[in-house]
Amino acid sequence: MAALGNPTNTIAILKKYNFNLQKKFGQNFLIDANILQNIILAADVNKDDCVLEIGPGIGAMTQYLCENAREVVAVEIDKKLIPILRDDTLSAYKNVTIINEDILKTDIGAIVQKKNGGNPIKVVANLPYYITTPIIMGLFESNVPLESITIMVQKEVAQRMQVGPGTKDYGALSLAVQYYAKPELRMTVPATCFIPRPNVDSAVIKLTRHKTPPVRVKDEKLMFGLIRAAFNQRRKTLVNSLGNAVDINAADKEKVLAALDAMGLPATIRGEALTLEQFAGLADFICAQAETAHNSLT
Ligand code: SAM
Repeated sequence: MAALGNPTNTIAILKKYNFNLQKKFGQNFLIDANILQNIILAADVNKDDCVLEIGPGIGAMTQYLCENAREVVAVEIDKKLIPILRDDTLSAYKNVTIINEDILKTDIGAIVQKKNGGNPIKVVANLPYYITTPIIMGLFESNVPLESITIMVQKEVAQRMQVGPGTKDYGALSLAVQYYAKPELRMTVPATCFIPRPNVDSAVIKLTRHKTPPVRVKDEKLMFGLIRAAFNQRRKTLVNSLGNAVDINAADKEKVLAALDAMGLPATIRGEALTLEQFAGLADFICAQAETAHNSLT
């Protein structure tokens, strides 16, 4: 079993198995041992942990995870990588389970139950960039027991996750991530650390799940509907972007205006200026108005 995390052994494995890298699966394999070690440190992986790795590739990060964690579950979509992992790069480890599945269709709750008795796991991954957002939102929204997610993503996406109002990168992803977790940018990673080199810079971000969300909101779905609609037309005022949105019929222009007035915000404000707390307040106000209207009809 060759130790990965360097160009020589990575190229040797790719040649040995005549493996063709698949762009459609976002395959950019890590070849830098320092970065791999630092990801393990950032994720704070130790021998008590059960770790889910999304997309092990040829197993570079998986080797580090197996050395440091109690139990590792690695979910890989590309079936051509499975024999490389099973028969070669991970064959020496008894604490790893390799699953050949699409992570977006995997029952992660069942894995957590089986491998960690339903206790919170850590997710560690060099993500396939084409599905970064669905993977993160899927993990949060499905409510699987989760302590943290430490992931390599496109640098620009990492920035979007951690900024607040008043910056150009602030958007629906920032608010969604910050509702569920505390984001911390841990390191930036140059393209030279991968085979093949991606066209973008990368960064490792750690998302530590909140035990309870930082804001209270009556109707989470309505709040995220408002957030999505506000940023779908981010150059418009909130009144116009929400008033035009077809999928949130609870929020017509008058209701949004009344809510802004009650919250002491100007009628001309744009969604990009609102904090998470203010979006929650807006959702609660609209929700209360809808309830009053409903009660007066019955
Ligand atoms: N962890 C490896 C490393 O760091 O060298 C590989 C990372 S590579 C950026 C992303 C990996 O995710 C690839 O192995 C790819 O085949 C896999 N992948 C892509 N889409 C996936 C999906 N929907 N479910 C599971 N794995 C996926």
